[in-house]
Amino acid sequence: MRSRMLRKILALLFVLVLACAVPGCSCSKKEEAAQPDSTEEKVSEIPENTTEEERTESESEKEIRRSAETESDSETKKEDKDPRSAVLDNYRDIFVVTANLLNVREEPSTDAKVVATIVKNGGGEVLDKTADGSWLHVRSGGVEGYVSAEYAVTGTEAEALAIENCTEGIRITEEVVNVRKIADSHGDILTKAYEGEVYRYLGEDDEFYQTSIGGEDAFIHVSCAQTVYYLQEAVPSGSNEAENSLEGETDAASDSEEDGTDTAESTTAVPTTTSPARPGGSNGIIVCIDPGHQAYGISAMEPNGPGSSVMKAKLTTGTQGCVTGIPEYEINLQVSLKLQAELQARGYSVVMIRTTNDCPLSNAERAQVANGSGAQIFVRIHCNSVTDQSVTGIINYAPSNANPYMSQPVINSSITLAQTLVNHMCAVTGAVNRGIILDDSMTGINWCTIPVAIVEMGFMSNPTEDQLLANADYQRKLAIGMANGIDAYFGR
Ligand SMILES: [Zn+2]
Repeated sequence: MRSRMLRKILALLFVLVLACAVPGCSCSKKEEAAQPDSTEEKVSEIPENTTEEERTESESEKEIRRSAETESDSETKKEDKDPRSAVLDNYRDIFVVTANLLNVREEPSTDAKVVATIVKNGGGEVLDKTADGSWLHVRSGGVEGYVSAEYAVTGTEAEALAIENCTEGIRITEEVVNVRKIADSHGDILTKAYEGEVYRYLGEDDEFYQTSIGGEDAFIHVSCAQTVYYLQEAVPSGSNEAENSLEGETDAASDSEEDGTDTAESTTAVPTTTSPARPGGSNGIIVCIDPGHQAYGISAMEPNGPGSSVMKAKLTTGTQGCVTGIPEYEINLQVSLKLQAELQARGYSVVMIRTTNDCPLSNAERAQVANGSGAQIFVRIHCNSVTDQSVTGIINYAPSNANPYMSQPVINSSITLAQTLVNHMCAVTGAVNRGIILDDSMTGINWCTIPVAIVEMGFMSNPTEDQLLANADYQRKLAIGMANGIDAYFGR
């Protein structure tokens, strides 16, 4: 069930139209599908066989590429040198998004339903343009719809952006493939991968491609996959086929959008540093931080998970200090900025969802920005509040094992991340450790395809903790605690 969900999400994210037949992999499929202890002899044979067949294949592939390159030689000099130009092979007429997040709509109108969103530097195929040129009819990530031409580029401009920002991936070429924890055919199996899925490329040796799944190192036999370059594609806004109630609720949501709070065609104001294809800082790890909320709530609704019929407000206003009166969104940002500095000092690369208090991105949209940012983990920072003023302490949220929207590896890693963070935060601050809560109703969790934890740093409903949360020294302790937790999560 969950792996089907994962397959669906990955397939939608990375639908790549690559004309490739992989005849040489049947033997390795046997090897990868068989029990580790029953295949000892086969294993030693197989890579050799495969290597030969692969060699033949890659020679012919190279020839095709060479002839293609000769044809395009006269066009640009970039293309023949940069292997990333292979990303263009996936598209006849490419477009690339220039806004931080762009809506894909059912019809060429800002009143039409949003069917998906595409992050900055993502894109897809242009099918057509409206007569006045203001909308592009596009296909991306298995979704067809319309995007505002104002926030996307086409032609040579798009090609240059695509080459610069594409991501190198490993595309599974066999029906079902074992993903191992180590680069060894006898290594423990982490999970399964399925034909057509694309994982991030993190390196290779003779026999295995390395990637990362749910924050864990993962290895895929080279005979079962090939490297590809791809653009981030559209992420559906939630399927609403066969769910009558959703259609009605979506209409209601559009009504409340007329308050003027939300839904510009793009959210260009968001000061993210998103660059999906870029490696991390000196330690190679990218962390995405979401300082929860912003200056105002967004009452328009969105599904609380991909395909869910449960609708929730896009963004709530958050709580505020019972003594200080300071709004939660300000505290969240202050601590997040300290965490950003602390992580950068430790060699991490950090993607911030917001660096000001003006960020009209919904919870689902924030998750999608994080998903497409190249980050290995997503930390969402909040403060808590309850009616009982005596309650204090730190609580973190993660998905449960029954979460229907997320893959098992991402669930496992999210739980580990949430637990590790709360332990380290309490160790540094001395706050009461209230552990973690597993919750599958939260939009901010359910839309994530990377490990996520919601951190509730303390109770603004408790007079003492409210004042502590507003104190710069205590905020620094919270940031150091979280950074220690992130170090521990990555085994550093
Ligand atoms: Zn909050």
